[in-house]
Parts: sequence; C-alpha cells; structure tokens
Amino acid sequence: MSKKLRAAHIKQPSQRTASGTSAVPKGTLLRCSDCQAVHEKKAWRAPNELSHAKKDPWVARTKEVRWKYVLCPACKDAKEGTYSGMVVIRRIPGKILNGLLSFIRKFGARSRSRHIERRLLSVQKNGKNGANEVVVTTTENQMAGRLAEKIRDTYKHQTRVTISFSREPHKREHATVLFDEPQEDTRTA
Ligand SMILES: [Zn+2]
Repeated sequence: MSKKLRAAHIKQPSQRTASGTSAVPKGTLLRCSDCQAVHEKKAWRAPNELSHAKKDPWVARTKEVRWKYVLCPACKDAKEGTYSGMVVIRRIPGKILNGLLSFIRKFGARSRSRHIERRLLSVQKNGKNGANEVVVTTTENQMAGRLAEKIRDTYKHQTRVTISFSREPHKREHATVLFDEPQEDTRTA
C-alpha cells in the first residue's frame, strides 16, 4: 500500500525537468572557486549581487549556465601574497590598539560587502619594544589611502595623526599613519 503511494508521488513532474528552459543561454561564466564571486558584465560580483537582479531573466537563469572555476584576482592576491595597497600604522597608543584593529576589520568587511574584490588581505600586528605597529595590505591601491584617511578622521580628536603617501611605479599605494602623543608646542592648527 505504502509502495503504491510513493510510486504515485514519483510520477509527479519534478521542477528540474519543468519545461520553459529552452531559452537558456549557452555562455560559460567564470566563477571563483574560493569566494564564489561571479564574473558578469565585466566585473566580479558577489553571488548575492546576482540574485538582486532576479527581474533580469538572463541573470535568473545563470544557474543553468556552465561555470568555469578560476581564482578571482582578490583570491589570487591572497594566495600568492601579492597586494596593491599597504597601510603602515606606527606608534599606536596601547589604549586604542584593540579598538583600532576592530575598526580596520570593520572597514574591510564594509568594503568587501560593497565590492567583493575590494578587501583586506592581511592585518599584521607588530609590537617592537612597546611601540605598536600594524601593517595592513589591500587588494586595491586606493583602499590604502581611504583606510589611512578614515583612521586619521576617527582618531584625530584623541591624538595627533599624520599621513604620508608614496606610490610605487607599478601603481601600488603605500600609506603611513603616524600616531603621536599630543605635544603642546608642535601641534599644528
Ligand atoms: Zn575569489
């Protein structure tokens, strides 16, 4: 008796074999094997960015497209240890160190959520003789400058912060953020 019921269920048409898939495009899309970003319309996009365009029938059908798995540029950077931006933060006052690290990670998460390829690659903490230093590398050169400016704008009311930039010939951007204990005479307006 129960076997018959199950057999009846199996005969129901499954969604996978539903008709209406004849218009599926034949293209192959690149997909990152690490972060699952998809290269679509000339840019790498997060998988959830594809679903926002459900009204676009082409995007809605992308699950029917053949995927070619590669590493996206950001994941390739992470794997090979290459980067486009670097921020070196020096003389960080001990009392703000943990808050600053959390600030940097939030900056990275926000950036990545807006554009999957704009990420932090590494956040390294060095502590030499009590002089706290943090080195951050980024996938995109302009991210380094933006992070440096955000750190300055956030902490300038607590302590003196100066930024300097240097750009390497091959477009890498280096920013240095220097924290300084407030000094009455050297403070500039
Ligand atoms: Zn990736």
